[in-house]
Amino acid sequence: MNDQLNPVSLESLCGALAYAMGIEPPAHAAAPNETLTEYIDRCLAGKKADRVFMYNSDAIAQWVYEKYPYLSDIARERTDLELPMVTVDPPKTPIAFGTMYTGAAPQVHGIVQYEKKLIIIDTLFDALVRAGKRVALLSRGGYSMAVIFAERPIDYYFCKTWPDVNAKAAELIVEDKYDFILCYNANFDDVMHKMTPESVEALSEARFNYQTFCMFDSMIQNLWKKHNTLVGFGMDHGCHAFINDEGLPRGTHRDNSPEDRNIVHLYKIHPAEE
Ligand SMILES: [Zn+2]
Repeated sequence: MNDQLNPVSLESLCGALAYAMGIEPPAHAAAPNETLTEYIDRCLAGKKADRVFMYNSDAIAQWVYEKYPYLSDIARERTDLELPMVTVDPPKTPIAFGTMYTGAAPQVHGIVQYEKKLIIIDTLFDALVRAGKRVALLSRGGYSMAVIFAERPIDYYFCKTWPDVNAKAAELIVEDKYDFILCYNANFDDVMHKMTPESVEALSEARFNYQTFCMFDSMIQNLWKKHNTLVGFGMDHGCHAFINDEGLPRGTHRDNSPEDRNIVHLYKIHPAEE
């Protein structure tokens, strides 16, 4: 396992997603991730993506990704770019997604501890709306993702279960009316906390995430042929095993450590068919 923190910050992602679509980044976004912008330029020969589909999983650490490659092999085979980054400190869900979609440090976007509260600074979703883009955000209700980016003029789909969330995302891909779709699945995080990150229960949830992403990617390839599309698989933070106060093995994420902070996203451009 890598015992160093990755050199590139998660703050760089937001600017690169704005760059992909050719829009002004949100007000506080850090400089765009150059590996991703160069990849986009190479695949689209300088054109922009008119569609972005982000599949946001939760808590699948880089070390899990590397130690169990068979969980994600089908997703790696379908994508081009592995993007290692270092997430926020402390590595908690609302703090990390806050940074992912503002491009700003936690002190700037306002969530600095585990707290599900509304982000009031400029986000990628605000920037997309200003540029006339239609945005859909999908999650189960009550999760951080359903709270921290609320109150924007975008469409929210908050469902009861993860299969409901994913079925709705599939419907939206078929409808082909949104320019930016964010589909969030926290099932790995949920189970990893209750068991341990390397329990068969948690690892099967990670595999479910990569398989689900591949299904969406396949739908997009078949149904969005006339669009230049960027698809991404991106988690918020990592995780590690620990022994709780009752002496039981569990999973968590709270430390300034490579286990909890190193993550690897996957990206792929599908250029429009001429
Ligand atoms: Zn999380």
